[in-house]
Amino acid sequence: MQASAADALTPYQLPNPPEALRDIVIESAIPQDERLWVPQAENVWFRPLCLNVSTGYWMNLLRVRRSGVLSRHRHPGAVHGMVLKGCWRYLEHDWIATQGSYVFEPPGETHTLYVPEDVEEMITYFQVNGVMYYCDPYGNHIGYEDVFTKLDMCRRHFGQVGLGVDYVDQFVR
Ligand code: FE
Repeated sequence: MQASAADALTPYQLPNPPEALRDIVIESAIPQDERLWVPQAENVWFRPLCLNVSTGYWMNLLRVRRSGVLSRHRHPGAVHGMVLKGCWRYLEHDWIATQGSYVFEPPGETHTLYVPEDVEEMITYFQVNGVMYYCDPYGNHIGYEDVFTKLDMCRRHFGQVGLGVDYVDQFVR
């Protein structure tokens, strides 16, 4: 249906479904406040943006200030990534994800995240579905993360840095 010229700038006039969740708008996704980076490991942090407990995924920025192997993991669900700064690669592939690259990581794949020696800082926006299944080179399970373990880490960290354990609630849907 064609809208008339008068309708073009008219906001939608009907209510949204009452069951619809609230939107999330974060003005500084790459934060000025260092406390918003949740420590993950030495010189590795994540910045939560959306922790989706209703379907089990999370959106976050991963920030790394070290080189070498970060983790080896399997994804039962898909992962989408976009590199905002620096670069990284997987030991299993010959491509390198550089600033501006988009990466689709297919369900079922296991790979080893590696940051090259000359990278001072890497920041990548990741959408992770389901679980990060950490394993050794032969697939033996050594740990996992899901949206609930990420949520726990955020709560603990935000409490410790004085933002309050409830600070994370704004990212939860
Ligand atoms: Fe991955």
